[in-house]
Amino acid sequence: MRAFSYEKASSPADAAAAAARSPDAKFIAGGTNLLDLMKLQIETPTHLIDVNGLGLDKIESSPDGGLRIGALVRNTALAADERVRRDYAVLSRALLAGASGQLRNRATTAGNLLQRTRCPYFYDTAQPCNKRRPGSGCSALGGFSRQLGVVGISDACIATHPSDMAVAMRALDATVETVKPDRSTRSIPVADVHRLPGNTPHVETVLDKGELITAVTLPKPVGGTQIYRKVRDRASYAFALVSIAAIVQRDGSGRIALGGVAPKPWRVETAEAELPRGAKAAAEAILADAKPTRENAFKLPLVERTLGAVLAQARG
Ligand SMILES: Cc1cc2nc3c(=O)[nH]c(=O)nc-3n(C[C@H](O)[C@H](O)[C@H](O)COP(=O)(O)OP(=O)(O)OC[C@H]3O[C@@H](n4cnc5c(N)ncnc54)[C@H](O)[C@@H]3O)c2cc1C
Ligand code: SF4
Repeated sequence: MRAFSYEKASSPADAAAAAARSPDAKFIAGGTNLLDLMKLQIETPTHLIDVNGLGLDKIESSPDGGLRIGALVRNTALAADERVRRDYAVLSRALLAGASGQLRNRATTAGNLLQRTRCPYFYDTAQPCNKRRPGSGCSALGGFSRQLGVVGISDACIATHPSDMAVAMRALDATVETVKPDRSTRSIPVADVHRLPGNTPHVETVLDKGELITAVTLPKPVGGTQIYRKVRDRASYAFALVSIAAIVQRDGSGRIALGGVAPKPWRVETAEAELPRGAKAAAEAILADAKPTRENAFKLPLVERTLGAVLAQARG
C-alpha cells in the first residue's frame, strides 16, 4: 500500500472542501472496498478523508411519506430497519443478499453505491484494463467474461456494477443527495448517478471532484409484492450473475431492475409495459440492445427464467 495522509472531517461540507483541496483525495466510509483496492495499488489516494462520525448515520421519515437514509447508515442497520422491512422490502432483501453479515456491519449506503466493479482483470494489475489504466485495452473482450455485462456496455469496457442494494434503489426510484466543495447541494435520481462506459470507462459516476453523498431518499411506499432474486455461482458470498429487483402490483403491472448484466443497475421503464404479457416479452424488451460475449450469452435466457420465477412468486 502506498503512503497516504489521513484526516477526520468535522462536517459534510468540510469533507467536500477537503477533498477538493487535495488532487488525489478519497473519502473513506466502511473501507471494505477502498482498502482492498489500495492494498492492490489499484487505487492510490494520497489523502483519505474519513466521513464516519459526521452524523450521517440516521434513517428518518420524510414529510412526503418517504424515507431519508443517511450516507453512513450501515447495510445491516438499513436491512433491519422496521420501516424498510415493511414498506421497502425489496431493499431489505437486496441488502441481505449481498456480501456477508460481517461486511454488511461495516459497509455503508454511499460506499455500497460507489463500490467498483468485480471484473477479474480490473483486479489483475498485470493485465490491460481501460477502467484501471485508460487507453490500455480491455482484457475481458476475448478473455474470461462469464460474469460480465451484456447490455449498456461498450467496446472499451464490459464490466458490471456489483451492488445488490443499488438495483433495489433503482426499482424504488431513489434519489441521491450530495454536497459539493462550494457547499451547494443537489439531488440526483439514482438512475443518473452511474455513467455508461462509452470511451471513458474510468469515469464511473456523474459526481464532481469532492462531491460527497450525504443521503439517499426513497419516495413514499408504492406497495405491491416486493422481491429480490439473485442468481449466483455460490449460495452466499458471491456477486450476482443475474439479479432482479421486482415490485409487482395485483393487476400484473410492475417495476423491474436488473443487476449483474450492465455497468449500472439496469431498468428500462418502457419495457415494463410488457410485464402483463409475461417474462419472455418483458425480458426481450429489457435486453433489446444486448451484445453478449460467447461466454456470457447464457445470461439472456437466465434473465428470462429468473423473471419467470419472480413473476410466479409474485402471483403466489
Ligand atoms: C468479499 C466481499 C464480498 C462482497 N459481496 C457483495 C455482494 O454480494 N453484493 C454487494 O452489493 N456488495 C458486495 N460486496 C461489496 C460491499 O458491499 C462494498 O465493499 C461496500 O458496500 C462498500 O461500502 P463501504 O462503506 O465499505 O465503502 P468504502 O470502501 O469506504 O468506499 C467505497 C467508495 O465509495 C466512496 N465513498 C464512500 N462514502 C462516500 C460518500 N459519502 N460520498 C462519496 N463517496 C463516498 C469511497 O471514496 C470509495 O471510492 C462485497 C465485498 C467483499 C469484500
Ligand atoms: S471489462 Fe472493463 S474493467 Fe474489465 S478489463 Fe475491460 S475495461 Fe477493465
